[in-house]
Amino acid sequence: MSGQPLLTVKGIDAFYGTSQALFGLDLEVRAGQVMALIGRNGAGKSTTMRALMGLVPAAAGEIALAGRTLSGAPPYIAARRGLGYVPEDRQIFTAHTVEENLEIAEKPGTDGRRFWTIQGVYDLFPILRERRHGAAGRLSGGEQQMLAIARTLMGNPDILLLDEPSEGLAPIIVDQIAEVVLSFRRAGLTVLLAEQNMHFCLRVATDVTVISKGVSVFRGDVEAFRANDDVKRHHLTA
Ligand code: ATP
Repeated sequence: MSGQPLLTVKGIDAFYGTSQALFGLDLEVRAGQVMALIGRNGAGKSTTMRALMGLVPAAAGEIALAGRTLSGAPPYIAARRGLGYVPEDRQIFTAHTVEENLEIAEKPGTDGRRFWTIQGVYDLFPILRERRHGAAGRLSGGEQQMLAIARTLMGNPDILLLDEPSEGLAPIIVDQIAEVVLSFRRAGLTVLLAEQNMHFCLRVATDVTVISKGVSVFRGDVEAFRANDDVKRHHLTA
């Protein structure tokens, strides 16, 4: 079940220097949706996430969160306003312990509540409890991805932005991450997920936005996406 539009993106352009990556991109994420952003390599999925977080300026268009504009906001404001970003390269503090990474990230949500606790994220990822006193840099790739997600949860976000969470991970770990995203879905947490792994997307997502060459070319629920061979043929196969 999904509710009101939580995140609305209308017509954003984004550039790296003079090179344009997004061309009037539209996106809408409703409360409770797990929205998969699917596209080929270089389609603009990561750039969309970076534009939402204010890490790449949106040169045109509008970004609104819960009806309030977010356009032009720097990353710390985007985070304070409820966006929880798990970047593709995870950016954990490798010299700090697992638990320190979690403590540093702890903050109340936009409603002032502290839903997620260290024990709560350890229950979600028991391996992190076992590794809590070890340096984060010594974790495996999969454990680092779990820590990156757990750390973002500690900020009690209204929307979780996951950039390629399955990338480079062994199938058994991808499976565990998929189960965790499914648990978010059951709990009604809103998620925007950028993924290349179609199997992962179709397993966890409620809705799909297809992005091709910096433009959104399809929006619909997972069933509509499955049924649309045209969009798959033209925008997703090599
Ligand atoms: P991938 O799955 O490969 O990360 P993506 O869909 O996330 O793909 P983006 O990383 O958003 O795509 O890239 C969109 C376009 O912007 C591509 O043409 C890419 O080459 C370009 N681009 C991305 N990052 C940079 C950067 N730091 N500097 C210059 N161009 C960039």
